[in-house]
Amino acid sequence: MRDLLSGVSQFQKDTFPQKKRRFKELAQGQSPEALFITCSDSRVNPELFTNSEPGEIFVIRNAGNIVGRKGEADLGMAATIEYAVKALQVPQIIICGHAKCGAMQGLMSPEALTTMPDVGKWVAQAQAALEDQAGDPNADRLTQVIEANIRLQLKNLMTFPEVADAVEAGSLRLHGWLYDFETGKVNVLAPETNQFIDSSVQVA
Ligand SMILES: [Zn+2]
Repeated sequence: MRDLLSGVSQFQKDTFPQKKRRFKELAQGQSPEALFITCSDSRVNPELFTNSEPGEIFVIRNAGNIVGRKGEADLGMAATIEYAVKALQVPQIIICGHAKCGAMQGLMSPEALTTMPDVGKWVAQAQAALEDQAGDPNADRLTQVIEANIRLQLKNLMTFPEVADAVEAGSLRLHGWLYDFETGKVNVLAPETNQFIDSSVQVA
């Protein structure tokens, strides 16, 4: 097993000196560009694949990037959304699912979770994703469920009054992303079609 503290030493020696000024500025406060909600999966590194610097994204992670509905969502999720929207006034919230998500696999195969009852209960909050019919017919079933879960969690976000109010006021935008760590690609949910499209096509 790699000694993570040796990684800290390396960071202090190489990376920190380069970013020292940035961290000093950030001591005055943060003004992140997005609330980024993604999975805890170790293969998903939001700062890395969005090329973000410290202070730029405010991140919530859990198994399956599940938000839940207002009142049913867990307190940590509700409090962090409230803080991001009301105190930090983030201009966008991104729900970012990812390829080969184990949480979504668990949602599809609850029998595999019998020894992990809390995981079972947690992912069951995304049950409605299994009934979503808007999926890409060319994608495999797991990818369809991952996409459906992103759509579902975007809907759930709108059950939080502070989110709905800010969206209505035009000060907050919601986005759905699907990140594939194998290719480095991000597909974004196009609101016009409710389908995911390659983000590089949009940028180009
Ligand atoms: Zn995952």
